[in-house]
Amino acid sequence: MGTEIQRRKSHFCTVCQRVVRMNMLRKGLADQVTWLSCPNCEGIVPLLSAAAKEMMGLKEKLPGTVMKSECAEYDLCGTYDVGQIFYHKVWDDYGIVMEKGKESQKGRAILVSFLKGGMKKIVENYQSLEK
Ligand SMILES: [Zn+2]
Repeated sequence: MGTEIQRRKSHFCTVCQRVVRMNMLRKGLADQVTWLSCPNCEGIVPLLSAAAKEMMGLKEKLPGTVMKSECAEYDLCGTYDVGQIFYHKVWDDYGIVMEKGKESQKGRAILVSFLKGGMKKIVENYQSLEK
């Protein structure tokens, strides 16, 4: 008793157009992403730290509230933009693209901050060698 951390944060919801007491789904480390969810519209909000924004090169264009139903589904062969949020069906998780690595013959490594899984490096634009 009394040890429960306050997992709520007031934040402007771009869907509801007002400040909402949101649920904190995941508290990110200093250079990572904190994920909130709006109890009103049930959208999810990636809250980027200053370090995360710098890493991503984002200044003004910040992702606001995202409706889960509007997230693209991650595909190994697809390509994604920094700041884009997608749904990873296999892991049943949502992630935001933080950084894009170098393109290789087999595809490009991207650094993704997942809502449940945290930071993970995955691949986009995967090219099967059996063509
Ligand atoms: Zn909302």
